Amino acid sequence: MAKIKSLSEFGLIDRVSKKFNHRLRNTVLPLGDDCAAYSATSSKTQLVSTDALVENIHFKLSTISPQQLGQKAIAVNISDIAAMGGIPTRVLITLGIPKKISSSFLDQLYAGIHKTCKLYNIELFGGDTVSSPKCFFINITIIGEAEQGNIFTRDGAKKGDLIFTTGTLGDSSLGLKMLSKEKWECSSNSRKHLLKKHLTPIPRIKESRLLKKFGSRVTSMIDISDGLVQDLHHICKQSKTGATIYEENLPLSPAFSKFCSDNNLSPLPYILNGGEDYELLFTLSPDGVNNLIRQFKKAEALVTQIGEITQPSKKVSLLKKNGKREMLPQSSGFNHF
Ligand SMILES: [Mg+2]
Repeated sequence: MAKIKSLSEFGLIDRVSKKFNHRLRNTVLPLGDDCAAYSATSSKTQLVSTDALVENIHFKLSTISPQQLGQKAIAVNISDIAAMGGIPTRVLITLGIPKKISSSFLDQLYAGIHKTCKLYNIELFGGDTVSSPKCFFINITIIGEAEQGNIFTRDGAKKGDLIFTTGTLGDSSLGLKMLSKEKWECSSNSRKHLLKKHLTPIPRIKESRLLKKFGSRVTSMIDISDGLVQDLHHICKQSKTGATIYEENLPLSPAFSKFCSDNNLSPLPYILNGGEDYELLFTLSPDGVNNLIRQFKKAEALVTQIGEITQPSKKVSLLKKNGKREMLPQSSGFNHF
């Protein structure tokens, strides 16, 4: 198998630019020069975010295919743009490549990147390729846009607002758990569902577009990457509020519930702190609820009220099925350091 050395950095850039020939209308200069250039319009707010995935921290090459890794790396970045109510437009990609990586690995990685970029009409706009001593890493900078001044932030939740999430929670972290051991009691359909949620998450762009119709009734939003509790704390901290989550409302997939009961796992840690759900967590003023339920039903998109914003204690608690209340400290989610 061809090692990356025989390809050279510029050979790789050539190969990639040939494949990624999609250009957006306002591109002035595509990738290939010292900078790429585009003209931003004054009617739009530009959004920028960056996210790195590092081998053995975020993924293991033994459990994710290069194509899946390419898809996921773009998807998790799109998720951040969705959380702001924007549309993704461009990405810049930096790869750190150790000697063990072959050129066919990179071809497959770029095939995954290409597939996701094409699906969301995203232009590859630049990046860098460097050697890395041991581990492979991929860093993506994503650019997106929203109507001028019309973005969702984390700081607008108010007491009495209702807390919603899209999709179901915990599937991705169970998918990750499944990868750590061979022998789990699990049907092949459930296995497929949980692994898919972990390996190739779908960014909630459709749902984010729906929520734009609600304007300022959506008072705050974040995507769940570090886990429900940790990300809800981000909203509470920036909005200076507290929050209560209702255990009995938490949306779970049939695959998740069955896997937990068949394998004697307590579901709550995965739901609350599992992370990498890439669902949208948002707060809504109560007068928007009926319309929200209607619109999501019409669009066949899942949305569930999971709690309520409370007075400014900055504390988050769980109202359990048995009526007892449990405090949920911020430290319980994923932390890199
Ligand atoms: Mg985020």
